[in-house]
Amino acid sequence: MTTADPLLGCHVSVAGGFDRAVQRGEKTGCTAIQIFTRNQLRWKSGLLSERQIKDFRHALKTSGVREVCAHGSYLPNLASPDPESRRRSIESVREELCRCGSLGIPFLIVHPGSHLGEGESAGIRRVVSAVDEAFGKDPGSVKLLVETTAGQGTSIGYRFEHLRDIIAAVGPERAGACLDTCHVFAAGYDLKEDEYDRTLERWERIVGLPHLHVIHLNDSKGAVGSRIDRHEHIGEGAIGIEPFARFMRDERFVRIAKIFETPKKKDGADMDRENLKLLVRLSQG
Ligand SMILES: [Zn+2]
Ligand SMILES: [Zn+2]
Repeated sequence: MTTADPLLGCHVSVAGGFDRAVQRGEKTGCTAIQIFTRNQLRWKSGLLSERQIKDFRHALKTSGVREVCAHGSYLPNLASPDPESRRRSIESVREELCRCGSLGIPFLIVHPGSHLGEGESAGIRRVVSAVDEAFGKDPGSVKLLVETTAGQGTSIGYRFEHLRDIIAAVGPERAGACLDTCHVFAAGYDLKEDEYDRTLERWERIVGLPHLHVIHLNDSKGAVGSRIDRHEHIGEGAIGIEPFARFMRDERFVRIAKIFETPKKKDGADMDRENLKLLVRLSQG
């Protein structure tokens, strides 16, 4: 592997230890990986041991994986108007920021949350103050990346403006953005043919390229504007193969990690390997 290889990989399991995640990624051919730093369906987790941290850092140093990002647990809702749910959400994100810091992971990706009927601007204000609380006095060695969403239910983050407002209010030294192709497409930002340039031009104008730190490359089961968040294998969904070739070859994204989060298996085949090979091929034209 050389630095000329695209910064590309997938979400990998941490079963057996964080060092095992690095090895899994390497075996698949990843130069970048995404992990959960704890059980994503549980609120609480224990402290990381020195051993876990050391093993992870060693595995990383001796592998071809050049970048690791973390995806936050699915439980927190930073936009929740309910005080108890809000408190737990802040605590959870604080803990994950801390785990990322210990592991030397620069980015924690979170979904902004759902306003549950309070309205979008109220929801955005709640997200901002929750993120402020989660960081506390920490200057932010780990950046919290707010991910674009498909816009299901009352979720925030399906308009580029939402991300812009959150990043501006939290501050770009602590907050950034993650663009998910399936989510933006489902939210109504088309990516096919000329629409790719139009959508990216809107991203540049509204959110800005410097705030973009990770791209999730997922095809979509749902049509454009369907607001359905269901991932499909690269090129096999409603987005189709061509926009993925554009993302892979786009000069603006060379240094940005591209991570796919597609189903692991199809008819028993290791699909991570297949999707990775396909994306590498697309990057080469
Ligand atoms: Zn995603
Ligand atoms: Zn998704």
